[in-house]
Amino acid sequence: MKLEDIQAIESKHLIQTYARQPVLFVRGNGSKLYDDRGRQYTDFLSGIGVNVLGYNHPLIRRVFQEQNDLLHVSNLFYNAYQGPLAARLAEVSGFDRAFFCNSGTEANEAAFKLARALNFKRGNKTKTKIVAFENSFHGRTFGSLSATGTKKYREPFEPLVPGFIFARQELEEINSKIDDETAAVIVEPIQGEGGINPFPADLLQALRKRCDETGALLIFDEVQCGLGRTGKVFVFQHYNVKPDVLTLAKPLGLGVPLGVVLVRDEVATGLAAGEHGTTFGGGPLACRLSLDFLSMLIDGDLLAQVQSVGDYFKSKLELIRSNNPEIIKDVRGQGLMLGIELSFPGKPLVGAMLERSFVINCTHEVVLRFLPPYIISREEIDSMLRELEGALQHEYNTRQTD
Ligand SMILES: *Cc1c(COP(=O)(O)O)cnc(C)c1O
Repeated sequence: MKLEDIQAIESKHLIQTYARQPVLFVRGNGSKLYDDRGRQYTDFLSGIGVNVLGYNHPLIRRVFQEQNDLLHVSNLFYNAYQGPLAARLAEVSGFDRAFFCNSGTEANEAAFKLARALNFKRGNKTKTKIVAFENSFHGRTFGSLSATGTKKYREPFEPLVPGFIFARQELEEINSKIDDETAAVIVEPIQGEGGINPFPADLLQALRKRCDETGALLIFDEVQCGLGRTGKVFVFQHYNVKPDVLTLAKPLGLGVPLGVVLVRDEVATGLAAGEHGTTFGGGPLACRLSLDFLSMLIDGDLLAQVQSVGDYFKSKLELIRSNNPEIIKDVRGQGLMLGIELSFPGKPLVGAMLERSFVINCTHEVVLRFLPPYIISREEIDSMLRELEGALQHEYNTRQTD
């Protein structure tokens, strides 16, 4: 089927939750995507931070072939990969235990439920509050949405889950909003959907200190920024701060849905058999893919590559900014999680770049976001940026004459 046929069907039969770009991707290879007409695009989005090894990678092809005789086993039985993946994650993260699920929002739900249940079991029945930060994004289910600080995502669905409050990224707010009734605090060390905003390092330390003082669990949501994207396996490794709970998802299963929450032993006692669960989470295909991905990430030179290519990419963006200060207000991010804040809405640039055969994204209205696969090359970055500078100047000039 062609794009036009698919569009006609979807417009009639899908609930219209997405305003899609008019492109039908049918296959990929390396960092390239191909549409139904055979046109090639270079991918700077990786399916929103998921396809970090690109497409058609030998590791993915092999695991799909080797695991095609057992895709799903319920969690009522053992499978050969969930335990070993938990052990490997424990080894690299320093946490002890994992609960697997299918997505980022579910990983955060598990973290919230764990924080509430842990205090319930300790007899702290009023220690139920969960503090999140303004401009955050933690997912679309009711619990995670209740921790998401963006009005347009929340408003149509109110009332949300009680007990969630928001703090600004300020020391005063951290110390006043987190108190003895706080069960948990959730933070993205680098906000993704909120526009690639790194949480200030000194405030992360203050956050750790305040959580220690009050006995609140500190949850890091590394669903988008974790698993190698910033040049280290986990973002907390860049700081001198360790959370009590870590949530991961997007790239964890290399495109097969997989999320996880990681905790230390004493936190894990919050949940007993039968108190939380999932039909699909931690299945053999996803866990096997993830296990091989982690080995590749840790044993190979991928992290060093993300770091050096990311530094190169960011320095080039800063150069373009200095040549176009009226267009680009800020360059932010680390490794291959980068964003540029424009002085005007960024959405038209996504379409303009697609016409030039590059997949990029716009978030928070004015931020162009780059989450390329970890295998992206300097040459691909150079050719994307040549087109981007032209497209930005064209858009800027059009807006001046309007
Ligand atoms: C994408 C994202 C989520 C939600 O993940 P889903 O898999 O879409 O549920 C949660 N937190 C952060 C930081 C994210 O970027």
